[in-house]
Amino acid sequence: MPGVTTLYILIAVLAAAAGGLGFMALRMCRQATALGLRLKEMSRARRLAPIRPEEVVGRAAPCGRGVGLVLEAVNDIVRHADAAVSDAAVKAKELEIHLKVATAERQHAEAIIYSISDAVLVTDTFDELVLANDSAAKTFDFDLEQAQSRRVDQILRDPKIVSMMREMRQSEGRGGRRVVEHRVRTPGGVRTFKVTLSPVSEGGDGGAAGPGGESGPHGTGGVVAVLHDVTHEKEISEMKNDFVSNVSHELRTPLASIKAYVELLIDGEADDEKTKREFYEVIQNEANRLGRLIDNILNISRIESGLVKINKKPQSLTAVVRDAMEVIAPQAAQKGVRLSENLTQVGYRAMADRDMLYQAVLNVLGNAVKYTPAGGEVTVETAVDEARRTVTVRITDTGVGIPPQDLPYVFEKFYRSEANNRMAPGTGLGLSLVKHIVETVHQGRTFVESEVGRGSTFGFELDLCE
Ligand code: ADP
Repeated sequence: MPGVTTLYILIAVLAAAAGGLGFMALRMCRQATALGLRLKEMSRARRLAPIRPEEVVGRAAPCGRGVGLVLEAVNDIVRHADAAVSDAAVKAKELEIHLKVATAERQHAEAIIYSISDAVLVTDTFDELVLANDSAAKTFDFDLEQAQSRRVDQILRDPKIVSMMREMRQSEGRGGRRVVEHRVRTPGGVRTFKVTLSPVSEGGDGGAAGPGGESGPHGTGGVVAVLHDVTHEKEISEMKNDFVSNVSHELRTPLASIKAYVELLIDGEADDEKTKREFYEVIQNEANRLGRLIDNILNISRIESGLVKINKKPQSLTAVVRDAMEVIAPQAAQKGVRLSENLTQVGYRAMADRDMLYQAVLNVLGNAVKYTPAGGEVTVETAVDEARRTVTVRITDTGVGIPPQDLPYVFEKFYRSEANNRMAPGTGLGLSLVKHIVETVHQGRTFVESEVGRGSTFGFELDLCE
């Protein structure tokens, strides 16, 4: 039965083929599972590594061609991916370092800017505020936190500063650094500032341009404005100018009359003893005036320039007033002016420089006697206001008084009321010194009330100390 034999053979061959195919499929399935497991293992460990063939097909069985090709491709991808991951990790590390350095530099710059007393404003290429310090916020009266990244023209109510910063940015620093003097209306009043505007280079370093203002190859990214308050310096220099011109004028007057009278004497214009004596007296008076003038000028300028050392200690104003009264008493008696007092206890004290305060009381008291005709009276009072914690010195005379239009100026340097000029010689510096001693040195307050023909009251008030 050849047909049956053939069938058996065919069945046997098919069975063998099926067995072979089954075996191959089984092996491929195992290899695929091994490959999958190995990839999973790498993914779990987050580390890529090439897969060796024996890890997938087993040490005993060499890998088939197809599996070999797949393995090769997988390993190539793994190697590329591994290299890319390593590169990225190095770059990430570098970026992290750069970021740390940049953050530290920014914090450093911010710390410097916040610690300086000048007002600093930094804008970017869109005229938006990127940095400002406390001093700038106070000067221009804006909220630091809310101002960040807002346009400067929305923050600053000073169109001049805004336009100067904008012009500097638009000019890309071609004109270099600019320094201008500018007056700003601050919450504390109008102040004068020296404004330095510098272009900021747009380069990677983000720093300000060099000393010449050159912005480098990158162009201007923004502007730094530094405002230095020069109000006090300006006031001092104006005061010095006024002072010098006033002093030279005041010194020239007595000197001119001394010269004139000496020439008259030399030319023999005074032929009798009486006239000579008159001339000598004029020369003596003018020389005395010159001496007083020089003393007062030196006193004022030494105090104003800070050359005199201020030595404040708790002082009884009553005691200081008593000392000054003792010195003035003979002068008052000689002139026929009565001195009376109404003083508080010595126990109340103010922090004061005794010598300076004594000088101030002496000047006011001296004026009271000087501008009061014989038969008049000068009363010296000290009073304490417990509630306000102040002590007041008040010196009232029954003298000639001061015309109302002159009153606001009597504390000014060299000011002498025309109406009283003939009453007594003077320099117009005594009350200016009083004001300086009381208000600048002791942070006190001076005051004056006067009525022509009835008399004047001059005085000052200081805070009591504990
Ligand atoms: P002076 O050396 O001229 O007295 P002061 O500065 O002491 O300078 O005073 C300025 C001016 O104020 C005086 O010239 C005078 O006209 C006026 N004055 C000051 N004290 C009195 C006073 N007690 N009574 C009237 N006038 C006074």
